[in-house]
Amino acid sequence: MTTTQLNSTKQNPLDTPVVVIGSGLAGWSIVKEFRKLDSVTPILMVTAESGDFYAKPALSNALAHKKGPEQLVTTDAKKMVSTLGVTLLQNTVVTKIDAATQKVETSVGNFGYRQLVLATGANAVTLPIEGDGASEVVSVNSLADYAALRTKLVAGARVLIIGAGLIGCEFANDLGGAGFEVHIVDPNPGPLSSLLPIQASELLKTALSKVGVHWHLQTSVESITRESRNGLCVTLSKKEQLAVDVVLSAVGLRAQTELAKLAGAVCDRGVIVDSKLQTTLPNVFALGDNTQYAQISAGGVSRPLPYVMPIMYAAKALAQTLVGQPTDVIFPLMPVVVKTPALPIVLVPPAPAVMGEWSLVSEGIWNYAGEDGMIRGFLLMGSQTSQRAAQLKRIAVS
Ligand SMILES: Cc1cc2nc3c(=O)[nH]c(=O)nc-3n(C[C@H](O)[C@H](O)[C@H](O)COP(=O)(O)OP(=O)(O)OC[C@H]3O[C@@H](n4cnc5c(N)ncnc54)[C@H](O)[C@@H]3O)c2cc1C
Repeated sequence: MTTTQLNSTKQNPLDTPVVVIGSGLAGWSIVKEFRKLDSVTPILMVTAESGDFYAKPALSNALAHKKGPEQLVTTDAKKMVSTLGVTLLQNTVVTKIDAATQKVETSVGNFGYRQLVLATGANAVTLPIEGDGASEVVSVNSLADYAALRTKLVAGARVLIIGAGLIGCEFANDLGGAGFEVHIVDPNPGPLSSLLPIQASELLKTALSKVGVHWHLQTSVESITRESRNGLCVTLSKKEQLAVDVVLSAVGLRAQTELAKLAGAVCDRGVIVDSKLQTTLPNVFALGDNTQYAQISAGGVSRPLPYVMPIMYAAKALAQTLVGQPTDVIFPLMPVVVKTPALPIVLVPPAPAVMGEWSLVSEGIWNYAGEDGMIRGFLLMGSQTSQRAAQLKRIAVS
């Protein structure tokens, strides 16, 4: 890939721009919100990708919607640039931030910034796995990753998914529904077991089994070796062996914090920001999967929120701050929607600090009651997902 610069006509090159690093949902959302308030200030977006706009959540149900990687792009980079009036440096990596002189260094030169927005996302976690087939494990966290996965999905391919969390279950449903032989390995006793009560996890397991998913629970992948004829041989910790063609790892993401750390910003599980999304560096802000937010709906615990809705709220608040109206981001309750059509799920998990327990209210509805007796979370499954608005009204947020 070579670096390309796409220019919009509105830029005044003499002005110091707002620089945005990253062209994922966070990068493009802050640009869109900023442009609603300021159509003049130059914006320079630097991205390691093409800058084409797509909805990342669509990656894990694209087969069901009969979409390939090309069809997932909703607006190409050129159109984004002309609509939003930005300069885009495609396929360009920011290698350093100099917070003292307010400059970013890239492979094609250095650029000053008035304000800098870090929207660098997260990287897929890689598990330590032995064997000469371990390098063939793929993860999907970008359109390019997804395109690479699709080239491996030839008819009749046997797919092993490592991790029965949100992304693993969604891919299992999508691949199983499309007729692939799907296996899932997870050290936990069931899918989504850190989020769901045990009976609900069992229901999801049964529903996914019906679309052809095979479960290998309370075990993990030890080694993967390449078999000359028969694809990959995966050995599990229980010494079971599986013959598969593709291994998809879905064991989680780690916030991309290296650049920020190198520049001296305080980072923990993400780049630490205050309620106005400012990092510990002057004029440097962050939002999206790379960010550890200061203020969240319930409990007030600082933590990453690697979902779409937080980006939308963060982008609106940050745009106000960038144009000189300092604004706190306030997140409402944001239900998690699990895209498993075999058994749709809507979930508001309790805040991390809240103690309590799940109880079944009626078929497909669970409430999480805190020790104070108040409803602190809920879970809806199947047709009960239509109760989402009503349940949200019942939940205690203080
Ligand atoms: C398969 C899948 C399904 C999902 N489904 C859902 C869902 O149903 N609902 C939901 O709410 N959330 C879902 N998510 C999560 C959601 O998609 C993410 O929270 C969101 O897309 C993150 O956007 P982002 O812009 O923060 O990060 P990213 O999309 O990762 O963007 C980061 C950008 O930064 C660039 N970058 C990084 N470092 C540099 C550098 N040094 N120089 C230049 N550029 C750099 C990257 O190239 C990229 O353009 C899903 C995620 C995945 C992977």
